[in-house]
Amino acid sequence: MESLDALTSLVAAGGVVVLSGAGLSTESGIPDYRGPSGVARRHTPMTFQAFTRDPLARRRYWARSHLGWRLIAGAAPNAGHRAVAELQDAGLVDTVITQNVDGLHGAAGSTAVIELHGRLDEVTCLACGNLTSREELHRRLREANPDFVARVAGVNPDGDVDLPDEQVAAFRPVDCGICGTGMLKPDVVFFGETVPPQRVARCFAAVERARSLLVLGSSLTVMSGRRFVIRAAKRGIPVGIVNQGPTRGDGHATVCVDAPLGTVLPRLAARVGAGTPLKV
Ligand SMILES: [Zn+2]
Repeated sequence: MESLDALTSLVAAGGVVVLSGAGLSTESGIPDYRGPSGVARRHTPMTFQAFTRDPLARRRYWARSHLGWRLIAGAAPNAGHRAVAELQDAGLVDTVITQNVDGLHGAAGSTAVIELHGRLDEVTCLACGNLTSREELHRRLREANPDFVARVAGVNPDGDVDLPDEQVAAFRPVDCGICGTGMLKPDVVFFGETVPPQRVARCFAAVERARSLLVLGSSLTVMSGRRFVIRAAKRGIPVGIVNQGPTRGDGHATVCVDAPLGTVLPRLAARVGAGTPLKV
């Protein structure tokens, strides 16, 4: 594959900054918001405005998320995450910027990971600002809802599941266990919310230091990720994209590979001499 040759040259030069999206985690059983085409959104994610202003929306979020959490918490890194960690071990990848909130880069052994949109396994109080673990919240929610049984119909990348209204109405959310009254929110950036400026600045700094930017499994639909591709292109830093389907950054890319990440990335790692040798 000619494009894999070009991608191999890009990565072999080192100084790579990775920008990963939902497409990297689909093979770990966490479905993409937008599907392989990157266009049709199957599920409307929670917005920050609805979450903070509408108690019913908040109850629905926590009821669904309480069910979805076990699936997210049980997800394991796939061959794509492991290949990224191997490229990092080999000294070719400097920083991993991820739009994913599942923690799977870290679980695969990656270091220097900037979690652009936060992490689902941490919970923040909007009143006192304390961070607590999602596992602890899970225990509290279980205690508050001992008889809550519902059938899980499907899980989305934000840990949400589909759930009928009558089951939502029976769910009892809990408030902050530290200040006692504060509203709890997963420590992730919801739609309609801005990423903390210092975090964005760290990402821009990493991109500007990079020899190349490698986009993995993101359709670059939202500006939150696309702005890094635009910045790289403006600075003359080559951009490689591996994604199933077209992306909104293709016009800025030096090389695009349209193929499953769990196949391409281990091959790429083997070609540049990182990780376990594979037959290619
Ligand atoms: Zn609090």
